[in-house]
Amino acid sequence: MSDKIEKVKCLIIGSGPAGYTAAVYAARANMAPVLYQGEQPGGQLTTTNEVENFPGYPEGITGPEMMMQLQKQAERFGTDVRHGWVSKVDFSGDIHKAWINEEKEIHADTVIISTGASAKYLNLPSEQKYLKLGGGVSACAVCDGFFYRNQEVVIVGAGDSACEEAHYLSKLCKKVTMLVRRDEFRASKIMVNRVKNTENIEILFNTETDEVLGDGQVVNGVRVFNNKTKEKHDIEATGFFVAIGHKPNTDIFKGILDLDETGYIINAVPGTSKTNVEGVFVSGDAADHVYRQAITAAGTGCMAALDAERYLAAKDSDFEVATSTYN
Ligand code: NDP
Repeated sequence: MSDKIEKVKCLIIGSGPAGYTAAVYAARANMAPVLYQGEQPGGQLTTTNEVENFPGYPEGITGPEMMMQLQKQAERFGTDVRHGWVSKVDFSGDIHKAWINEEKEIHADTVIISTGASAKYLNLPSEQKYLKLGGGVSACAVCDGFFYRNQEVVIVGAGDSACEEAHYLSKLCKKVTMLVRRDEFRASKIMVNRVKNTENIEILFNTETDEVLGDGQVVNGVRVFNNKTKEKHDIEATGFFVAIGHKPNTDIFKGILDLDETGYIINAVPGTSKTNVEGVFVSGDAADHVYRQAITAAGTGCMAALDAERYLAAKDSDFEVATSTYN
């Protein structure tokens, strides 16, 4: 074995709520987990301001602060949290191989994938500017809608997510303007009807975003254009929501694990964290295109660690199950 190869019981890939929760459980179960944080330490929550819907924080907490606390909790029980990203994996043998930053090689008995998903954005400079400032751009109505109570907001997208989020926002906000780039929705009929029948949602078809407007700190409007007539006009709004889909961060698992047609990892046994490869488990948004919440990611992180622990115990008679769940 080259000295670049390190052998571990449990490798956790990703540092969102799923990864850190898996780490807390795996560390407490004597699995000495090694966690690689990936390209965005802390994951999607680090792009959110206030998290008010995670149980246990009655006053709310900022996304970055929450992720720092989760990291500390994982480290407290001995998780080895490391900078670095997994660039390649090979799950063809009994030992699961992963390469870090295309250099270091890790051989793991178990792997917990918590690589999450990334919201898609329009990538307009003005959108990215206010997103980074935390000044009114969001890709999660359920996370951030509450901050726009009684205000006017704009949402982009025409799929089920956009309809669901527009409807959610309509219950909080004075007015929701929905920008649909074609002359029809992609969403299912029932979702479209719900949006169409909501009084304070205005739908603008054939309409795209030209620029997100603001005062340099926060959003105060959106300049849109009709892609048929090319006419532009401004809409007053304090929030700009983007709901044009998510991309699961699973590219390195293509051809290695079973993925669905949009790239989400498929749970081989529903109700568990098992993938189609023994000893490889998945948690969080990498396998979830429906709920996508910090709390559901944390829940599946816990499941993955328990499944990994049980797998190790069955495989290695020297490994004692530490978690009382299996008594
Ligand atoms: P989808 O890929 O279904 O829809 C994305 C939408 O964003 C499309 O309408 C697309 O427009 C639009 N879009 C993409 N890029 C741009 C752009 N640059 N500018 C403007 N608009 C853009 O993603 P969803 O997240 O909505 O849904 C993902 C999956 O999850 C689907 O299978 C969906 O059915 C499912 N889902 C189910 C729910 C439920 O059943 N309750 C709730 C949420 C999601 P266009 O149509 O023109 O391509």
